[in-house]
Amino acid sequence: MTDHYDIAIVGGGIHGVGVAQAAAAAGHSVLVIEARALAAGTSSRSSKLIHGGLRYLETGQLRVVRECVRERALLLRLAPALVRPQQFHLPIYRHTRRRPWQIRSGLSLYAALGGFRGAARFRRLPPAEWGDLDGLVTDDLQAVYAYMDAQTDDAALTRAVMQSALALGAQLAVPARFVSGRVDGGGVEVEYEEDGTRRACRVDALVNAAGPWASQVNDAVSPRPRSVEVELVQGAHVLLAGTLRRGIYYLEVPSDRRAIFAMPWEEAVLVGTTETPFAGNPDNVRPQTEEIAYLRDAVGRYFPNLGGDDEPLDAFAGLRVLPATRGAAFRRSRETIIDGDDPRTPRVITIYGGKLTAYRATAERVMERLAATLPLRPRRARTDTLPLEPASA
Ligand SMILES: Cc1cc2nc3c(=O)[nH]c(=O)nc-3n(C[C@H](O)[C@H](O)[C@H](O)COP(=O)(O)OP(=O)(O)OC[C@H]3O[C@@H](n4cnc5c(N)ncnc54)[C@H](O)[C@@H]3O)c2cc1C
Repeated sequence: MTDHYDIAIVGGGIHGVGVAQAAAAAGHSVLVIEARALAAGTSSRSSKLIHGGLRYLETGQLRVVRECVRERALLLRLAPALVRPQQFHLPIYRHTRRRPWQIRSGLSLYAALGGFRGAARFRRLPPAEWGDLDGLVTDDLQAVYAYMDAQTDDAALTRAVMQSALALGAQLAVPARFVSGRVDGGGVEVEYEEDGTRRACRVDALVNAAGPWASQVNDAVSPRPRSVEVELVQGAHVLLAGTLRRGIYYLEVPSDRRAIFAMPWEEAVLVGTTETPFAGNPDNVRPQTEEIAYLRDAVGRYFPNLGGDDEPLDAFAGLRVLPATRGAAFRRSRETIIDGDDPRTPRVITIYGGKLTAYRATAERVMERLAATLPLRPRRARTDTLPLEPASA
């Protein structure tokens, strides 16, 4: 007899495991199908920030920021071993495009959205403290603002959420590749391959959480769910020898005025990210030589000692899934798109884009969309109160 699950999820990145946790908490039977390893895709190649996205305020994306700061507060409470508060620094030089008053008003709004009061909001560092900023260049420096956000290990967070889902009864097939889905009146027939063996199951709903591979996965579903037009934009990071004791620095790249981060990571310094249009198979995403040079050059202007002439300790790249509109990737909407094959009783739901930070809110939204499709089950838990612990190996 074919196995039956309420939901099958393709992809063991943060969104796949998030939906697995939310579905299992709501009492559903769930199977996650992951082709390589948990967090093998974008969810181990992000900037590892649990943040509201200060810069999204510039493009008026208040809803995204509000949701992300709410989720940040929740994760700091539920996952203290995985998500740590971190001080961010914003240096403003004579040549910086954003002026001190703009930064101050942006930070005021950011703090207000995050519910911060008093000293927890942000502060302008007195010049006497500038010498203690990890060797930051102080020529032409006009102001430095400091504020709080948070940092995580994205892959460890993904494994922790899956562990929580497993504890609630979810099942995980890994490495296991989704092969096909056939939608009929009463559900979806799913085929996948595990250990060289073809397996099949029947589900009420299929959730496509394959990130940059989402279109490929939908190509294997019949009838094919309509596609949302998206573009893949590559973001690279380099890991350089050095230390940043004071926290994270938010820096403006002099050549194009984009913002990049330099952050402490595994006894070294992680610098990212780029925005390079990407076409082709997401399996082949790799940092380009020019991206590595761009990041090294930009951070070297502010921290001349970082990395020296040595080769980077590491470099990696991930793919953002962004709505296909004109204009710089930097300014595009970061809203997560949750697309169903039917407005009332979707059988196939695809998640496009999104933020690591807001994975839980996204997962709960997916469950709302599936409410009329799925059978009612007795709830086991609530994701906004479930603690997250680092996964045991
Ligand atoms: C450069 C960069 C920096 C970022 N920085 C941040 C940040 O600092 N903070 C933040 O909040 N967000 C950040 N983001 C966004 C965040 O990282 C992503 O939104 C999130 O990781 C996407 O997760 P996902 O589960 O949708 O996709 P993925 O993590 O890519 O997971 C998809 C999974 O599907 C699997 N898969 C594919 N095809 C199949 C198949 N046929 N069968 C089975 N499995 C399959 C893959 O192996 C993969 O594991 C960043 C994104 C990028 C690109």
